[in-house]
Amino acid sequence: MSEASYKLDKEIETVFSHLHDHQDVKKGLEFLEADQAQTLKEQIELAEISAPPFAETNRALAYKKKLEELGLEEVKQDAEGNVYGILKGERSSPALFVSAHIDSVFSIDTDVTVTEKDGIYFGAGITDDARGLAALLSIVRAFKHTGIKPEADIIFGGTVGEEGPGDLRGVKAFFKENQEVDGFISIDAVSPSAIVYKGTGSYRYEITYTGSGGHSFGAFGTPSAVHAAWACNFTHCRP
Ligand SMILES: [Zn+2]
Repeated sequence: MSEASYKLDKEIETVFSHLHDHQDVKKGLEFLEADQAQTLKEQIELAEISAPPFAETNRALAYKKKLEELGLEEVKQDAEGNVYGILKGERSSPALFVSAHIDSVFSIDTDVTVTEKDGIYFGAGITDDARGLAALLSIVRAFKHTGIKPEADIIFGGTVGEEGPGDLRGVKAFFKENQEVDGFISIDAVSPSAIVYKGTGSYRYEITYTGSGGHSFGAFGTPSAVHAAWACNFTHCRP
């Protein structure tokens, strides 16, 4: 998705501009830039802990420790494996859940060592979603640094099972357990300049196709096996 094709509707744009012009928010955004070195350090640290779907425990526990150290309240790991804590607001509702996913697509035997060459960092899963996890920590620090107290509780955390066979099991379990939570933001680092909002949900199927395409955002426009799967499901192959 190019930035040029990206449009906000009026309602969202008004809120966004209002927030963006707020002095405390400006201070927070400046902090995020100043916090880049720490964010990168934690991004590398988290990327170097293997976290394939269904084996995210080590990274989840390391992340939980970081959430605790940032002073979030009621930090916990739930039965599914998600870890999260609360930044208390003036009141408990409408509550917002801000998350990044703990798992990566790489199997347990993948070398997850991060290397650097000419200022570029290389590593399995270092972007998706170690960057999201690290960015989330930086946002919590920005809240603490600026002293912004949210109107209502914000729950910050990492979810398990986002990728492939994980089938969003972490997010599904979170909302089953926390039905009073009103909003959800996922920080996923495929395209840092884009915000996808008012999502329409998704259906998940277990079908195997092969094709030349890649990631649905990062390789957008390349012929993809997903097109065949879609066509099959909605036309002649429908069961
Ligand atoms: Zn992702």
